[in-house]
Amino acid sequence: MSDIENVVIIGSGPAGWTAAIYAARADLKPLVVVGVPKTQPSIVLPGGQLMLTTEVENYPGFPEGITGPDMMEAFQKQAERFGTRTRGEDIVSCDFSSKPFKLETSKGETILAKSVIVATGATANWMGLDNEMRLARSGGGVSACAVCDGALPAFRDQPLAVVGGGDSALEEASYLTKFGSKVYIIHRRDEFRASKAMQKRIFNSPNAEVLWNKVVLDVLGDEVITGVLLKDTITGEESTLDLRGLFVAIGHTPTTSFLDGSGIELDDAKYIQLNTRSSKTNIDGVFAAGDVADSEYRQAVSAAGMGCIAALDAEHYISSLSG
Ligand code: NAP
Repeated sequence: MSDIENVVIIGSGPAGWTAAIYAARADLKPLVVVGVPKTQPSIVLPGGQLMLTTEVENYPGFPEGITGPDMMEAFQKQAERFGTRTRGEDIVSCDFSSKPFKLETSKGETILAKSVIVATGATANWMGLDNEMRLARSGGGVSACAVCDGALPAFRDQPLAVVGGGDSALEEASYLTKFGSKVYIIHRRDEFRASKAMQKRIFNSPNAEVLWNKVVLDVLGDEVITGVLLKDTITGEESTLDLRGLFVAIGHTPTTSFLDGSGIELDDAKYIQLNTRSSKTNIDGVFAAGDVADSEYRQAVSAAGMGCIAALDAEHYISSLSG
């Protein structure tokens, strides 16, 4: 058993590090549990999804852009400068039934905490193809976030494709029509699950084309994507489509399985439910920030803002304990 921590922050993306910066500057000596890298079932990394992003051009303060990993390193340094400590483990289960809270780590140790900020993010779902993951990791033109990466010069006036048929896919496709010479939407069925309004926008776009009943069998290209191998789900026919960018938009999975049995309220899609605009969960002293509690905006800057709110809420909560 350890000493009782004031604030344990679980997760090390923009929400986690921002919470740490604020909590450290409030002299709470926060502990960040940064997690360990995993590749199954999808990529989960310390530093979060930005570790899979090449250029970040939409985070204010970086007029020339910055790579996702460089940005996360800078966030971490800033948090450590004010006394944040880190542990390279996962939290595998949480006991919020009594105080102090008990967090069990992947090394079988227990961390005791007065307050907890959950900032474990969400991971984009991938199709699970080897070449898809290789080119996503290397910045070779495969991405799970058009809003993050779509405006990069490599995608300008090039043929691009989005995989998926939900609101995210059509929103991303619509966004990409501003940059790509042509935007294909590759969908495995013959109808979209996206809202009618979103569908209308795509059907009215002169440079968008829907490829119905198609699945991606392989992603082609060595250094950068050159195309995809498609299969028609009705006829079984295979074809090649030339592309310079592929955006996978087949949903996200919030990292909340370690909260099973903890009593934290999740919504139907397993995101943490927040108490109105604050970071408060249904359990007093447990807060959440970033994509783990936000299925809608999912941006580095919005996650960082939520991290700030969570640290301020935790600070207020801790002072109420001693007050
Ligand atoms: P989603 O609604 O779950 O849609 C996922 C899409 O990916 C579906 O069309 C699904 O196909 C397809 N898919 C899933 N696995 C696949 C695979 N392995 N291979 C190929 N295709 C696959 O996810 P989302 O679009 O991210 O939306 C999540 C939630 O956020 C939804 O409630 C959505 O309405 C909401 N959202 C709202 C907005 C907005 O209102 N502006 C924007 C974005 C998201 P099938 O249809 O065949 O299952």
